Amino acid sequence: MIRPEAQTLLEISDLHAHVEDQPILKGLNLKVKAGEIHAVMGRNGSGKSTLSKVIAGHPAYTVCKGQVLFQGENLLEMEPEIRARIGIFLGFQYPIEIPGVSNLEFLRVATNARREQIGKEELDTFDFEDLVNERLKVVQMDPSFLERSVNEGFSGGEKKRNEILQMALLEPTIAILDETDSGLDIDALRIVAKGVNQLANEDNATLLITHYQRLLNEITPDYVHVMAGGKIVRTGGSELAIELERSGYEWIDSDKNNQEVK
Ligand code: ADP
Ligand code: MG
Repeated sequence: MIRPEAQTLLEISDLHAHVEDQPILKGLNLKVKAGEIHAVMGRNGSGKSTLSKVIAGHPAYTVCKGQVLFQGENLLEMEPEIRARIGIFLGFQYPIEIPGVSNLEFLRVATNARREQIGKEELDTFDFEDLVNERLKVVQMDPSFLERSVNEGFSGGEKKRNEILQMALLEPTIAILDETDSGLDIDALRIVAKGVNQLANEDNATLLITHYQRLLNEITPDYVHVMAGGKIVRTGGSELAIELERSGYEWIDSDKNNQEVK
């Protein structure tokens, strides 16, 4: 929901980032306010995942120019753990498996770290089980997934649901979901979308990174941004996603504003 008076949660200005000396982000600007859902679309290789990793603080990505403010504070100076605690959540495109670490315990430790930050009391094993059982319903997950190691042997769809479960427990201020829709069948996609819609409120914001329009049939974004060559080249409302579904991304190549100045 767009409200002009809402607080700005994330403000990215002229962001340049590289990985292994290769420039990827080249002057990206984005402003996200409380209550908003933004979709970031674009072809493979346009830098979408890089953007999400830079926001989360992945050490492989170096910011060489520009600024990222979260609720007015310089995010780039903060360690990734601090970013997670203060409410930045990244749902991975390829969630990792952590053999030997119980999913339940992992979720409990992460949830308590976040709760401490927002001034809520720590949950012991029993109280946490009550909370997690309630949140499992959001993603329609079977409680048996809690007894297993984090994501180990989970199907693609189960991993993505587990990411949304994490999000439901951590109650982030900004949730960045990187291609959460990829690899999901339509039923799983609807469950994930329902979870995202249920968790969105006027105090938080969601950044949906997606290659395809189909997720946006289930979640209506306030803004749609198109990335190309490491920056946002076009911004519109939800109708832009529908237009892209029809026309693809070829127009980017013919628009000379998007050509790099050599
Ligand atoms: P998208 O998510 O839009 O598909 P990415 O951000 O994953 O795009 O990648 C943008 C570009 O950066 C690609 O050309 C990719 O090969 C390159 N890139 C991303 N991460 C790395 C890395 N760790 N090492 C080398 N190149 C990378
Ligand atoms: Mg990606």
